[in-house]
Amino acid sequence: MNRNSPFSYVCNACGLCCHNKVITLSPYDVMRLARAVAASTRDAIDRFTIRRGSILKFTDDGACAALEGACCGVHRGRPLACRLYPLGLERIEHSDGEKFVMLEPAIGSLGDYGIDGDVNGFLDAQGVGVYLTANARYASLLPVFRERIAAAVDFDRVEPREFWRRAIREALAESNYDPNPLIDAMFDTSAIVGLGDAEIVAVHVERLAQIIRHESNAEMLAVAAVFLAVSLGYSPREVTVVS
Ligand code: SF4
Ligand code: SF4
Repeated sequence: MNRNSPFSYVCNACGLCCHNKVITLSPYDVMRLARAVAASTRDAIDRFTIRRGSILKFTDDGACAALEGACCGVHRGRPLACRLYPLGLERIEHSDGEKFVMLEPAIGSLGDYGIDGDVNGFLDAQGVGVYLTANARYASLLPVFRERIAAAVDFDRVEPREFWRRAIREALAESNYDPNPLIDAMFDTSAIVGLGDAEIVAVHVERLAQIIRHESNAEMLAVAAVFLAVSLGYSPREVTVVS
């Protein structure tokens, strides 16, 4: 489906889609989650996420950590994936391309599917635009990572596939991961205060770009690069292809 495809959906607040999911979070998702509960991004990471801030937390009974009864406790700051539901957004590697897909309805879902509008109207109603804009800004860091890693690693001497395999394994580890200040900085915008959302993103992206350009630890850079790519909905290949 593309933005002009016929589509409409009415949520009837059954809460069934808020269980047993794997929902990746971008730095902007984390910022908005924090804002919705008037907490710092550090507190929001502890409260609502796993894997260093990059995945929404679900409790042992399968419910999202933000679910309150059948309602979203962070509705104003719900993540992009929740806004898109029941659509999913597929990224097309190494391009700005996008494709929308219809996700399987939750079993017993009370949602009403229809064709009374189009994908574009649905995205607007869900406030998706600012999320996509912010994520595009963070995605601009991926070539900065690629460039820095290419300068820091001699791939004539280091076997590229093994190098990236190790980075992907570490980036996707659920626990026992190595400390990585770049990843910590990627999800924590607490230090940037007194600005609107778009300005915070701009300052944050610039600060991250500076950190990346000055970092010489190639392994740390590679893990953070994979981490960011996945959190933005790309496959690790977005950064692991060696030119
Ligand atoms: S953040 Fe809100 S909408 Fe998203 S899964 Fe959790 S409770 Fe549901
Ligand atoms: S399954 Fe559909 S109707 Fe139920 S809460 Fe989720 S979006 Fe709303």
